[in-house]
Amino acid sequence: MAQAQIPVLILKEGTQRTTGRDARKSNIYAAKVIAEAMASSLGPRGMDKLLVDSFGNATITGDGATILKEMEVQHPAAKMLVEVAKAQDDEVGDGTTTVVVLAGQLLAASEELLDEDIHPTTIVEGFEKALVEATRIIDEISETVDPLDRTVLENVAKTALSSKVVADYKDFLAKLVVDAALTVVEKKDGKYNLSLDDIKVEKKRGESITETMLVKGIVLDKEVVHPGMPKRVTNAKIALLDAPLEIEKPEWTAKINVTTPEQLKMFLDQEAEILRKKVEKIKESGANVVFCQKGIDDVAQYYLAKAGILAVRRVKKSDMEKLARATGARILTRVEDITPEALGRAELVEERKVADEKMVFVEGCPNPKSVTILVRGGADHVVDEAERAIHDALSVVRNVIREPKIVAGGGAVEIELAMRLRDFARTLPSREQLAVQKYAEALESIVGILAQNAGMEPIDVLAELKTRHAKGEKWAGVNAYTAKVEDMKKAGVLEPALVKKQVLKSATEAAVMILRIDDIIAAQPPKS
Ligand code: ADP
Repeated sequence: MAQAQIPVLILKEGTQRTTGRDARKSNIYAAKVIAEAMASSLGPRGMDKLLVDSFGNATITGDGATILKEMEVQHPAAKMLVEVAKAQDDEVGDGTTTVVVLAGQLLAASEELLDEDIHPTTIVEGFEKALVEATRIIDEISETVDPLDRTVLENVAKTALSSKVVADYKDFLAKLVVDAALTVVEKKDGKYNLSLDDIKVEKKRGESITETMLVKGIVLDKEVVHPGMPKRVTNAKIALLDAPLEIEKPEWTAKINVTTPEQLKMFLDQEAEILRKKVEKIKESGANVVFCQKGIDDVAQYYLAKAGILAVRRVKKSDMEKLARATGARILTRVEDITPEALGRAELVEERKVADEKMVFVEGCPNPKSVTILVRGGADHVVDEAERAIHDALSVVRNVIREPKIVAGGGAVEIELAMRLRDFARTLPSREQLAVQKYAEALESIVGILAQNAGMEPIDVLAELKTRHAKGEKWAGVNAYTAKVEDMKKAGVLEPALVKKQVLKSATEAAVMILRIDDIIAAQPPKS
């Protein structure tokens, strides 16, 4: 007897499901598209991208992290790749483009293995073994340096800066970044450390990047709040207030019946009196500078000006914290708590004109470990790109200071790894061997892309590199500037070993994550 078919509803209507090989193919494809888009930006001769957001704002950049952020990727697998690259940027501040391109190459290589009916789990295991071995090789071949060696640090910074739009100024910027780093570097328990929080980066449009400067102190993008206040205070005694210098509105609605003009005047006078008393309290403490995180209203401004106090309002929380560290002041949440001991010190607080705008400089602080890099540039997008480039350069310098081990760039390390991984592959069972060989191939293709972007013939370059590495020239790489195969260590193209290790880790993780998915269950997007 034929049974009636009873529909069984398991997933919500409209849900799309793709499984097995199809799911994997679609994910690999999406990740490869992102990787291909990034490949042309890899390396110092890579191209920049012009990104336009939905409001029509344009960004020109060669910075991988920024390209990915602005691309607004939709596909879930591609999104995962973007997330991994972002994590790489947060972790070590550099190597984002390489992560995405390498992950793309790893996935392209896995596709070939999948087509040969090798199970994804075997590929994943092979890749993971390759990663462990590659990390070990990097530790073995990397060279230990003096963490405070200026030449090494400048070279590392220059390598990071060379693929940015502002690469023409890399010598100048690298010097500035290293100056900043060496000013704030600290030694703790026998190890050097650099906290990027100690280096404030402030932007102001100007005429040229060469106006970018290192200020020993804190620069605020703010102006003195009242024209009657001093614009320059030497021997500053600084109060940091996280409380408004204005009459706070009550949270509940209050009704006050005023029937005569005298009553109104009395009411207003009373408000002014409260503010006058607050300012009096500040003056009594000996403060001659006030940085306020909240507002300062007209009446309070008037009294402060009358007391000869320089005041700035609506200072960012992060700046207040930096000011506290630099000057030794305590951040006060109530004006009533102010005491001479709570005040910070600086030799000079001054409002200066930068371009056509005013900024407040706090210099000669008791804690010399607070500096500001004031980034300048001819146009807003140049200033933005310079800021991003400085962030990357500071990050790589920090990495070397923390773990003073370097490798040479320009593909030198990738080729050495590829060759050694091939030897390693021979020690493994046949199927995993194939995966490790593909890993090596993916690393080589990174060098091929670098060569191609420098206008060289990848096949010739790879052949020459392999011959030279086989002869023991472990730092032979492709120099994008001279378009020649050279000893990249001698050429000064240095990178932190830490970044390279992290690049391999992030790229492998991304590829593995995508390979492990064999089922995509996508809900129907809500109808708008
Ligand atoms: P990422 O976002 O991954 O840092 P970049 O576009 O900055 O990507 O490119 C980094 C790559 O460029 C690294 O592999 C680095 O070794 C290489 N590189 C840097 N300077 C040179 C150079 N002068 N010649 C060749 N390659 C270089």
